[in-house]
Amino acid sequence: MIFRPSEVFSGGFFYYNETMKKCKYEKVCGGCDYQGLPYEKQLNKKQRAVENLLAPVLLKCGYSKEETAALFHPIIGADQPYGYRNKVHAVFGRGRNKKIICGTYEKGSHWVVDIDDCQIEHPHAVEMIRGIKDLMPSFRMQPYDEDKKTGLLRHVLIRVGQQAEREEYMVVLVTGTKTFPGKKNFVKAIVDKYPEITTVVWNTNDKKTSMVLGDKEEVLFGPGYVTDELLGNRFKISPKSFYQVHHGQTEKLYIAAIAAAKLQPTDVVLDAYCGTGTIGICAAPHCGSVVGVELNPAAVADAKENAKKNGVENISFRSGDAGEYLLKQAEQGKNLPNVVIMDPPRSGSSKEFIQALQKIRPERIVYVSCGPQSLARDLGFLLRPKHGKRLYRVESIQPCDMFPMTNHCETVVLLSQQKPDDHIEIEINLDEIDATSAESKATYKEIEEWVQEHYGFHVTNLNIAQVKQKHGIIERENYNKPKSENSRQPGCPEEKVKAIEEALRYFQMI
Ligand code: SAH
Repeated sequence: MIFRPSEVFSGGFFYYNETMKKCKYEKVCGGCDYQGLPYEKQLNKKQRAVENLLAPVLLKCGYSKEETAALFHPIIGADQPYGYRNKVHAVFGRGRNKKIICGTYEKGSHWVVDIDDCQIEHPHAVEMIRGIKDLMPSFRMQPYDEDKKTGLLRHVLIRVGQQAEREEYMVVLVTGTKTFPGKKNFVKAIVDKYPEITTVVWNTNDKKTSMVLGDKEEVLFGPGYVTDELLGNRFKISPKSFYQVHHGQTEKLYIAAIAAAKLQPTDVVLDAYCGTGTIGICAAPHCGSVVGVELNPAAVADAKENAKKNGVENISFRSGDAGEYLLKQAEQGKNLPNVVIMDPPRSGSSKEFIQALQKIRPERIVYVSCGPQSLARDLGFLLRPKHGKRLYRVESIQPCDMFPMTNHCETVVLLSQQKPDDHIEIEINLDEIDATSAESKATYKEIEEWVQEHYGFHVTNLNIAQVKQKHGIIERENYNKPKSENSRQPGCPEEKVKAIEEALRYFQMI
């Protein structure tokens, strides 16, 4: 047995075997890349993956092998690697025998696979979804058929708020129709069956889309949100809020990030990409003040409410692009943060944000990353010397496992301002230096990789050289020059020119 739902539900323990059983849905689901691998091995793999991605960046920036190795802390593993997901979703359909089924889409298709057990989802939430499915026939409720646009119930989403003394459950019923006949009685039956449900929301999604939730929402029971507790603070989770999915690991991640920031009572902190303000609110008691910046206005509204709910007064929030905000701050030169905690999405930070950091030069930057590739890229920019001087040095790198059973890994990196008397030997490869742009530049390989990642096609060194020439970034005279004077070089295709220009802009070379 992996875990006992009844014990989890009554606030008991999770149980799991060290040699775990294989998930029977492994082949059809495809959700867990590290399926069946002992947890210890998963952690080792993640540690190596982070080291393999980040160490070359550090070595390239002048750190010795020994210095580089000393920066990596051992990964923070989960006490509970199973049944952790506090957000559980199932799609509804019909099986071969026409019976109603619920589960996930088969890997790479739109066929629904019936799933009655999942190693990473909250077990009671999984049980609840199946319980809701079992209620459907007595209400003559049909699952929604996307192709025929018939039936009613399309998805059920459950979000769990974990507090010290209890768990709250939100059920979101997603219909493919704009009407929901008999909703009152259906909700009553669900809540009678599971009195621990604290709220039920009806969401309408009639679009042909892989998104679970549509735009329209109506609260059918309770307050329309659940409350989660992190490090003694309470946070509101609405159906669409971004919220970390592993409760225990989120607390450890936030502790790692806040501890890395070495906060002082006088510090002015920027919580960039702040979501619903969770990191900033947890950090606020340890510093002078915090400003949170977030693109999603609904998340900002939740963040303001969360601050109020927790009686945190030294925090405020701005809605907008983090890069634009910080660049504006840099221009105005007022109330600049001396500590920046940044937690961007998987694609990483924007070039504006990095530029703004280089202008403002906060004393400490804590980069919380869920995308090691984009982290490696952004660290490369932050560590690259400006006018021959390095602005930042890496103090520590802390991997943290937020998603056991998958290959994802979170990382917290502390960068601190390079003091004028800190001295690091940097080996400079003259071939890599342009006559006009010694200040900030990427190598051909970096440009090529950037284009591959963002546009999905390959560009050659010649393509890059041609675009650099077009922009007056003078190449070394003999770069790939044809042997004879009258030989012609092929022109660079327009889509490649555009992609390379975008990369040059990204690397701040034009
Ligand atoms: N720190 C939060 C959220 C991290 S997820 C937490 O731990 O819960 C990343 C957040 O960045 C999301 O809320 C997303 O909406 C936001 N975001 C994405 N692009 C952004 C941008 N350009 N400017 C500001 N916020 C952005």
